Amino acid sequence: MEIILTGTGSPLPDANRAGPSTLVKAGDAHILTDAGRGVVMRMAGAGSLPGLLAGVLITHLHSDHICGLNDVITTHWVMSQGKATLPIYGPVGTAEFVDRQLNALEPDIGYRIEHHEVLLGPPKVRVTELVPGDSFIVGDVEISTEATEHAPVRPTIGFRLEHGGSTAALVGDTVPCEGVDELARSADVYVQTVIRRDLVELIPNPMMQDILDYHSGVVEAAQTAERVGAKRLAFTHMVPAPTPETYPEWIALAAEHYSGEVIIGGDLTTVTV
Ligand SMILES: [Zn+2]
Ligand SMILES: [Zn+2]
Repeated sequence: MEIILTGTGSPLPDANRAGPSTLVKAGDAHILTDAGRGVVMRMAGAGSLPGLLAGVLITHLHSDHICGLNDVITTHWVMSQGKATLPIYGPVGTAEFVDRQLNALEPDIGYRIEHHEVLLGPPKVRVTELVPGDSFIVGDVEISTEATEHAPVRPTIGFRLEHGGSTAALVGDTVPCEGVDELARSADVYVQTVIRRDLVELIPNPMMQDILDYHSGVVEAAQTAERVGAKRLAFTHMVPAPTPETYPEWIALAAEHYSGEVIIGGDLTTVTV
């Protein structure tokens, strides 16, 4: 499997980091997890396109993780000339969110159907709402879900993908919890959204202080990875966004608690397992 960090940014706008999303290429299947700002541009950079997606997985309905979904849906629709169905999997609430996206796109959908004879109807999407513990298959990838903890955001889920004997845990925004442990246990790569608690604490902004209580810090992610024996720990959704010069500092902080490989980088950082 190739795990490509298509968006390593956060809600904070960044010229070089797209909003959170991760693309997995497993055999012939391309599977996207979350669809943050700029996701379709970064998919193109990763040698993929919405039309190639076997499925989209959504961890939760915070805007930074889903604001690019309308672009994924529309581009998938247009590039497949209306023929293909886009499967979307997410927590309860995802179906209503997708319906509302389609409502918002109604003028565009109308224009294109009127103008392109080949388009016979609106985008075809199939939404499957998941509860923690659900498992399913996309392509020949086995996917399981567990509950994560990002209160007051509820529900939130993470994903574990298994293909050809390799395992990737794609965990969204969460504090350490039992569900994350299950997802990341012995994983070849555990991808975790993280903040630098020590740096965020210094930012004199009440809304920034609010994020401290519902995210994993670098230290906590490293402790989780060590506890469950994950072979690699990859950081994404980093707050504050690091510069390459500070990567060694982030790695050193994690290495105090974790003996495996720590991966940190920019958009399109790729892990092969
Ligand atoms: Zn969130
Ligand atoms: Zn987020």
